[in-house]
Amino acid sequence: GWGGCRALGGLVGGTPGAASPGGDCQGTGRPGGDAGHLGGCGGWLAGGVCRGTLGGGRAQLLSVSRRLLGHRLWGSLLRASFYGQFVAGQTPPEVGVTVQRLRALGLRPLLAVPIEEDVGEGWYEGNRGAVLGCVGLSAQGGPQPMMQLKVTALMSARLCVSTGRRGGELLTPPFGRERCRGPGTLLHNRHLQASLLRLDGVTQVRAGVRVLVDAEYTYVNPALTLVTLALMGRWNRAQPWVWNTYQCYLQDCLVRLGADAALAERRGFCFGVKLVRGAYLEQERRLARERGYPDPLHPTWEATNHSYQHCLDLLLELVARDGQQCQLIVASHNETSVSHAIRRMEELGIAKDGGAVCFGQLLGMCDHVSLALGQAGYAIYKSIPYGAVEDVLPYLVRRAQENQSVLQGIRKERDLLRRELWRRLLHRP
Ligand SMILES: Cc1cc2nc3c(=O)[nH]c(=O)nc-3n(C[C@H](O)[C@H](O)[C@H](O)COP(=O)(O)OP(=O)(O)OC[C@H]3O[C@@H](n4cnc5c(N)ncnc54)[C@H](O)[C@@H]3O)c2cc1C
Repeated sequence: GWGGCRALGGLVGGTPGAASPGGDCQGTGRPGGDAGHLGGCGGWLAGGVCRGTLGGGRAQLLSVSRRLLGHRLWGSLLRASFYGQFVAGQTPPEVGVTVQRLRALGLRPLLAVPIEEDVGEGWYEGNRGAVLGCVGLSAQGGPQPMMQLKVTALMSARLCVSTGRRGGELLTPPFGRERCRGPGTLLHNRHLQASLLRLDGVTQVRAGVRVLVDAEYTYVNPALTLVTLALMGRWNRAQPWVWNTYQCYLQDCLVRLGADAALAERRGFCFGVKLVRGAYLEQERRLARERGYPDPLHPTWEATNHSYQHCLDLLLELVARDGQQCQLIVASHNETSVSHAIRRMEELGIAKDGGAVCFGQLLGMCDHVSLALGQAGYAIYKSIPYGAVEDVLPYLVRRAQENQSVLQGIRKERDLLRRELWRRLLHRP
């Protein structure tokens, strides 16, 4: 009873109709046909929670609502709505249920541990255990398993800022095995060495799982890319085990992507790319204003769309040349981007199930696009954060605050869900 085929027609037939950020998710299919994470009342409730509470901010959500409702009721309400819609669960068995549900629908899991920034070596060591747990869970998640990795869970953001300035010395082996020297205090260098060993350890264990490193804020990104390229140089000899993320809302995205792809080719390692528009729009603009440097983002959504398409075209050409050397996940809910990728794949002769190109969307977002892609035989992953309500919610709230357009997408999806709920209540065909 789900209208995925209508969405499929729109996607594969190449009739995109983008109107606004997040707006592509509107009107192309009926979400909520399948229970659990793929829609239903939870999604509708989630929309209400987002509208009512997320806009008001994290502090409001975490303290006022918990105080008013009491811990138990607050937790239950969130589990029935926002948490239930966007998070896989807390324990491995709960995550396993979500993964099975997705797999039954032809979708693959892309697990992520949403860990907030903290300080102290002990905290980062603890996170190493959580990240390794994620490797283990992902390894059971089906064909060509993947997971997301947040470098700042294993290495402090402050260290990332200074490491970014130190530049290419990280690219030379042995990765973290020798005592880090150079500028910086002894403590700083010790933490750098410990962080590199943690990151290296995770990618070494990997257990057949591709590790997709997330992009974050522009003040940490140079270090993240540096570390990721170093890991790629070390582990991506025969296959792209480590991938980097490129945010197309950044004005220099295409240039940096081209430079890194050329570096991979020169140094003879495989290049894996997660291509996104970028989730930190509001924050980046505010930081640029406050600190008095030029806004690093494209000035409009349309300019970001052009950037995304140019990056996509560049990557698809590289994949068509050698699908082992370069691989790509089109991580977007935007149907115009998804349709464009599908069309170019056909034109360039890239197989939909060849393993070189796949698609990614967030759990609870644009399920109709995901299902349509899965039904059409494309490799499609749902990004799934998991963890305790208290641990996961601040992350989701921050993401929603950072990206109003995601909220807009949720609102539109909520409207579709409301319509679907009425249709079912009235038993219309
Ligand atoms: C699997 C997966 C992994 C992800 N990993 C990351 C990650 O590592 N790092 C990260 O930052 N994000 C990540 N994201 C989030 C991603 O960036 C957001 O989903 C994305 O921003 C939403 O855009 P969209 O492509 O779905 O399309 P749309 O909804 O069409 O576009 C919205 C986006 O366009 C851009 N935009 C909107 N208005 C403007 C404007 N006025 N000027 C300039 N640009 C504008 C913003 O980037 C905004 O988020 C990931 C998403 C997925 C699905």
